Amino acid sequence: MSALKDRIRARITAEGPLSVAQYMSICLGDPKDGYYTTREPFGADGDFITAPEISQMFGELIGAACLSAWDALGCPTRFELVELGPGRGTLMADFLRVAALRPAFIQAARLNLVETSPRLRRIQADTLHGASLEPAFRDRFQDVPAGPLILVANEFFDALPIHQFLRTEDGWRERRIGLTAQGDLTFGIGTAALPATAVPASLGSAPEGAILETQPAANAVVEEIGARIAGHGGVALFIDYGYLKTATGDTLQALYRHDRDDVLAHPGEADLTAHVNFEALAAAAARGGATALPPLTQGDFLLRSGLLERAGALGAGKPHDEQEAIRDAVERLAAPDRMGDLFKVLAVTNSGLPITPFDSAP
Ligand code: SAH
Repeated sequence: MSALKDRIRARITAEGPLSVAQYMSICLGDPKDGYYTTREPFGADGDFITAPEISQMFGELIGAACLSAWDALGCPTRFELVELGPGRGTLMADFLRVAALRPAFIQAARLNLVETSPRLRRIQADTLHGASLEPAFRDRFQDVPAGPLILVANEFFDALPIHQFLRTEDGWRERRIGLTAQGDLTFGIGTAALPATAVPASLGSAPEGAILETQPAANAVVEEIGARIAGHGGVALFIDYGYLKTATGDTLQALYRHDRDDVLAHPGEADLTAHVNFEALAAAAARGGATALPPLTQGDFLLRSGLLERAGALGAGKPHDEQEAIRDAVERLAAPDRMGDLFKVLAVTNSGLPITPFDSAP
């Protein structure tokens, strides 16, 4: 039994059942025993491998897209370059290698890394040691200074807490986590109802037992970013796995040592994520006053950005096994049955700004 599980049980005994959002925040962010505080989740030895850890090409192509976004913004001579949840700092290191080809971009940029975990901040600082920009660490997006914005976030929103509502005979009720008579963690339902306005008309007839997820934490961050972009100009690229239209379904999942796990089994030891609702993110950006361009799948984004050309250049003259590894990375990142279709890229911008490689009509 983990220390965190004991503390969660004690808290439920004292205060009553937890919402799914409370449970996720504790499991991932507890300052002593939370997953991101204590674990090394990334890379071959961790629980999952993210796109920047698969290949340098991912961060390079994001960097190239941001260079052209800077052009579209009119090459502001001061702007805030921001990454939310940089993990090991790999994406930004690859990004900055490409950006260094445009010295004026580097001169204009101030680098802000929004990261809560002190352990990951140290790793990010190490990874970026000697890079063309030195990072300033921020606890929250709100702490980033005002000004034009170029922001990226890869697999950030999937780690933010979601709420789940269960369709019952008296409407949608919040799903909560309580204790069985034996003291084990178990799902139940609470009395909190989902406001009828939060349910799209298409889901009004969802059957009993259906689950609807909401992501107020992710939406709040995107609304802030949208307001910043509307006020000062800018571009944000959000890359995550998720769905394009609000729909029912239980997407909360746990990964424990590379395998799917019961979400209640290893609090603090397993990674917990939920799929991101991109329709809700786009609506939040619009509430902030910005425009969300029609999202692309990760596969389309990377192919339109020149993934195959970059792979060819990277592999030219290399030994056969290195070329094979590059080909394998292309597959993993872009093939529809790998990350290519499940992952989406959403671009948010101030109105009318065309952003390569997105279609401009929202
Ligand atoms: N972008 C990285 C890592 C994704 S994991 C990659 O693609 O490899 C999620 C990252 O977000 C971690 O760095 C985690 O510590 C950070 N994080 C999670 N919740 C956060 C929050 N509320 N505020 C800031 N950072 C957070």
